[in-house]
Amino acid sequence: MANSLSLTSSNNNAGIFECPNCKQTIDASSTQCRFCSAAIDPVAAEAAAEKMSKVNQACSDASFLRTMAISIFVFLGLIFVPFLTWLGMLGSYFLALAVPFMSVRWWVKFHSIRVDDRDFNRAKTTVIVISVLGGLNLLRFIVFR
Ligand SMILES: [Zn+2]
Repeated sequence: MANSLSLTSSNNNAGIFECPNCKQTIDASSTQCRFCSAAIDPVAAEAAAEKMSKVNQACSDASFLRTMAISIFVFLGLIFVPFLTWLGMLGSYFLALAVPFMSVRWWVKFHSIRVDDRDFNRAKTTVIVISVLGGLNLLRFIVFR
């Protein structure tokens, strides 16, 4: 089948969605599910594909945010490395501002998503944790700089 799953999950997956009947991932432009032969309403399919693409975007943004949050600790560690103190300060200051900013941006973009998807729920939990910790870190940064 030409329409097999792509190995690059970072692709924008607009155009695919879950069959409402059998939950298999299918092409939104098809009129019939290729797994269970259920008829596909093209309007509903397009809306579902758009939603799925947004969910994928939310998951990849969350994982990017997690990488940024983890990087704070790397930069904080660099502060104690001779000759790299400046880099550690610069990086941790920048991320102290950037992480809360990106967290807020995530909530603005994706707060309206209502979906029972394991990956999305995990992404959301990650962003909740990062929002709280990032907020506290920003507070620490403002108070103790
Ligand atoms: Zn189906």
